[in-house]
Formats: sequence, C-alpha cells, structure tokens
Amino acid sequence: MVGLFGPGAGGYAGRDRGVVGAIVAREQAGAGSGTMSENRLKHFGWGREGEGMTPAEETAAVERYRRLFGVASFAEVAPPPLADLQFAAPRLRPPPALAGICSSEPYDRAAHAHGKSFRDYARGLQGDYTTAPDIVAYPRDEVEIAALIDWAGAAGAAVIPFGAGSSVVGGVEAATDGTSCRGAVTIDLRRLDRVVEIDRVSRAARIEAGVFGPALEAQLRPHGLTLRHFPQSFEYSTLGGWIATRSGGHFATLYTHIDDFVESLRMITPQGVIETRRLPGSGAGPSPDRLLIGSEGILGIITEAWMRLQDRPRFRAGGAVRFKDFLTAARALRAIAQAGLYPANCRILDPQEAANTGAGDGSAAIMVLAFESADHPLDAWVARALECCGDHGGTTDRPGMHDAHREGAAELWRTAFIRMPYARERMVQRGIIADTFETAITWERFEDFHNRVKSATETAIREVTGRPGQVTCRFTHVYPDGPAPYFSFHALGRHGELEPQWRAIKTAAGDALIAGGGTITHHHAVGRDHRPWYDRQRPELFAAALRAAKHSLDPQGLLNPGVLIDP
Ligand SMILES: Cc1cc2nc3c(=O)[nH]c(=O)nc-3n(C[C@H](O)[C@H](O)[C@H](O)COP(=O)(O)OP(=O)(O)OC[C@H]3O[C@@H](n4cnc5c(N)ncnc54)[C@H](O)[C@@H]3O)c2cc1C
Repeated sequence: MVGLFGPGAGGYAGRDRGVVGAIVAREQAGAGSGTMSENRLKHFGWGREGEGMTPAEETAAVERYRRLFGVASFAEVAPPPLADLQFAAPRLRPPPALAGICSSEPYDRAAHAHGKSFRDYARGLQGDYTTAPDIVAYPRDEVEIAALIDWAGAAGAAVIPFGAGSSVVGGVEAATDGTSCRGAVTIDLRRLDRVVEIDRVSRAARIEAGVFGPALEAQLRPHGLTLRHFPQSFEYSTLGGWIATRSGGHFATLYTHIDDFVESLRMITPQGVIETRRLPGSGAGPSPDRLLIGSEGILGIITEAWMRLQDRPRFRAGGAVRFKDFLTAARALRAIAQAGLYPANCRILDPQEAANTGAGDGSAAIMVLAFESADHPLDAWVARALECCGDHGGTTDRPGMHDAHREGAAELWRTAFIRMPYARERMVQRGIIADTFETAITWERFEDFHNRVKSATETAIREVTGRPGQVTCRFTHVYPDGPAPYFSFHALGRHGELEPQWRAIKTAAGDALIAGGGTITHHHAVGRDHRPWYDRQRPELFAAALRAAKHSLDPQGLLNPGVLIDP
C-alpha cells in the first residue's frame, strides 16, 4: 500500500538524498540563517518562499488522503495573501536608538505571529493574525538585546524571544490578552549566527544562539567537527531555540536531548546577565544550566552557549528490520536499549506509519536501525543488535547492514521525514487535520499505554469529525527504562471549524497521555498549547519554585507571558 507522505507516482525530487545527505547538500550550498540572496522565510508555511511540495508529491498525498477518508474530492480554501492581512495599529514605537533594528511592517508582524503547529496553520488559513507582535526587532549583539529588554520594561511591553519560529506549541506568539502587558516586542535572534570560538582540545565551541542548523554545521565542518543535533526542523530552527525547548535530535539513544551537548551558556535577563561556568561536569549544587535549559524564554534570552562537539563519523552501518507487529518490534528495541548498545538511530514505525512514509507496505512494523562512530568499526554492535531483533522474529535482507542505511526502507523513511514538514500547509487548505504528539513512558506501562492513547485519539476523531481517521505510532527516542512514542493523526475536518476540531482531538490525546502516566511532551516543549497538561503533570511546589525564579529574573513578568507558568 502506498503511504500518505511516501513517494508516489513520480517520486520525490532529490529522492536519492538521505537526512544527512540533504543537510550536507544545503551546508555546501551555504544555506544558513538568511543571506540576502535567499528568499525570505514564509509567513505561512514551512521553509522559504518558493519552497514546498512538488506537484507529484502533492497529488500523491491528496490521493492517499482521498482513499483514507473515502471522499471524491476536498473543499479547498486558500490562505489570504499577505497584502490582505489586517493588523491592529502598533501600540509601541521604538526609541530612535533602536528604530533601525525594529520593524512593524506587515511581513515581519505576520511572520512572527505564529509558530508552525497545525493550530497556527488553521489560524493563518483564516487570516487570523491577532497574535502578531507590535514590533519585531533584529538585534545584532547583546548590547542591543539588553537595550530592547530595557525599553520593553519601561514601556510595559511583553518580550517574545524568537529563534526561527518552528515552535509547535504556541511558544512564540505575542498573546498578551489577560496580561498587564501594553503591547509586545518579538526579539528575533537570527543575526546572532556565528561560531565564535572553537576549543579543539576539549572539542567544544562557543556558538551564538540565533544560528540556524545548516549554518552552524557549515561553520564547524572545516574543523572536522560537528554538533550532530539534527531535529526534523534542523534547517529552520536555531541553537537558542533548541536549548530553550530542550529539543530532541536524530540520536535515538544516549544524546537524545540538546541538554547533553550544552557545556555552559549565557543568558540576558531583565535583571542582568547569567553566564555559567564551562565544565565537563559538576556536583556543585543544583545545576544552573539545568534551570536555564528548557526555560522556553520565560527567564531570559539565551545569547550563546559553549556546546560539546564530536568528530565527524567515519563508520556507519544500519538498515531496516521487519517485525510482524509494532509491539513485537518494541520488545526487540527494549532488548537493544537495555543491552547498552546505544545505536544512533533505532526508530520503529508501526505498519501504518511505515506505509505512510513509503518504508513498508502496511503488513509489517519496521525498525530503522543505525550505528555511527568516528573511531571504530561497528560490526560487533550491529551483530549484537541483529541478534536482539532475531530473538523477536525480526528479519532483514542485509545481515551485515553495511551502508544499508542508505537504501531501501531506511532511505525511503528518511526521505519522507525530510519532506513531511512541507505537507501541512498544503493539506490544511483541504480541511485535512494532520498533526503529531509525542510522549515518553516506562517500558512496563508502554503496551497498555499505547493501546489506550491510540484508541482515545481514534474515538475523538470519530466523534469530532463524524468519520474514522487514522492514528499511527513510531518511536523517536529510546531509553533503557522506556521509549518516547510519537503519534501522528489524520482526520478530515470542516473549514471554519478546524481549530476547535483540532483542539478537541488534541485534548482527548493529552488527557489520555496524562491519565496513562506519560508526559505531555518528550521534546516539543510546553509553550502555551501544552499548559493544561503540564500544569497537571508538574508538582505544585515545583511550579511555585519556578515562579519564584521567574520573579527574581523577570520581576515585571515581561518574558513570554503564558508560557510554562502564570506569574
Ligand atoms: C516540521 C517540524 C519538525 C520538528 N521537529 C522537531 C524535532 O525533531 N525535535 C524537536 O525537539 N522539536 C522539533 N520541532 C519543534 C521545534 O522545531 C523545536 O521546538 C525547536 O527547538 C524550536 O527552535 P526555534 O529556533 O525555531 O525556536 P522558536 O520556535 O523560535 O522558539 C521556541 C521557544 O523558545 C524560545 N526561544 C527561542 N530562542 C530563544 C533564545 N535564544 N533564548 C530564550 N528563549 C528562546 C521562544 O520564545 C519559544 O518559546 C519541530 C517543529 C516543526 C515545525
């Protein structure tokens, strides 16, 4: 069976490139956080203006959705053009010293009104840009950032730190309703985009927070070094955004979150600068880094960080293993995780997810397995991992797996993974609600948890839309004590009601995650959208302590009101 996003007739442009291949190609093309010759970022959609699904990709995806929902065609609504968008008059005017780095142009306000979640696209489709900031500032250095924060403080305006705006949890919108803020200033950090200093001996680099993924890797490459943190949003997200949200990269084990790579960081708060000490480890009380990493812009603006680097991998092995079903594949993966093998990649896709990405035909679950090293051959690791798979009935066509990660199901999955972000802005125009949510749970609860969450989401889709949809699952990260399951859902909504319909499905899913003992997010962060469940998940006394920390760093409550906690 052909999938929702997998290559259909005509296949993908650039289909021969894997995740890393595509990234390297962009690095070599000098892609970065926005040189003057590049098209600007879309205000509605993923990537730059002019980028998107190819006609063949779009036709194939629509055809698959048509079959899934059993409809002949879709009602189509186009987003209003930028020129037709309405904005309230800006409530703020920057002082002359800052005017040159500030804008209240419609493009800047529209491009900073939303992140990239389904909800954001549903609002954009309706021309709802009520969460646009009054002013967007593009500071060039810390002095300008501090001056902007001072000005915002004096004006009583909210400050919204902005990396690339790839938040999928309402993390970057200037939502000031119900707050005492008199306007909002978004501080876009894209101009802080340099690798400033490299310590080859300790294998670390001091890197500015606004650098986009490809520009970061391009600056490390001549030194033979790499951060190797590749979230799916890598091309259009920033180091500061990764640290602020505790992002999850492509490493499925060991270095799962960005936390593991942060050696120290610098943050500008309304009360001054915090700079933590560069250390490989420290037992000196609670870690200041751990408080600031994941603070989602509510405590201050991260301006730079010393990041732990790696040598570029020279040895790679991997490929795809097939299993009769998802839960059997999960048991094999638990054996691998608990054997201490630490594969770089060990994602499992349920049969439907495999079909949707073109990695399978829907009859089997697929494990995409990969090892990498800059130092040593990987044969022993691969052999042991395949033994674990074999114990659970896993089969592969390529027993040695050398270079098999560039072929077949593994490669098809990678291609779909790269192209997937471009689908949402096209499918929402047909009323298709396609979204994901992710969590983590200990192994002993996983199977029951998976079944309950999937079933609750399927039920909600039927109740909300009046017809069945589809809920699939894969693992993005795996720990010795449990997996991070990642669910995708597909439903046919009604134009004009897409946001409430999405919210009803999301609520049922979030409730099931929390009731089942999981987390509301493994790596997408909390933002504003996950607040109802985060508030239930985190201990109340911890919320009080976090509130106290915010009060001492941001006494006026300017930074990202509504994100993570209320004042
Ligand atoms: C298609 C797609 C795929 C994705 N894949 C992944 C994935 O694989 N793994 C993953 O973890 N996430 C993923 N995400 C979510 C998102 O990319 C991450 O949360 C990412 O870390 C956000 O980075 P950003 O630079 O775009 O930050 P933004 O979206 O601009 O900001 C995110 C939050 O951090 C704050 N912030 C940003 N920069 C700073 C700073 N310098 N200092 C203080 N606060 C700051 C903002 O105020 C906001 O609350 C994906 C999103 C999309 C749309």
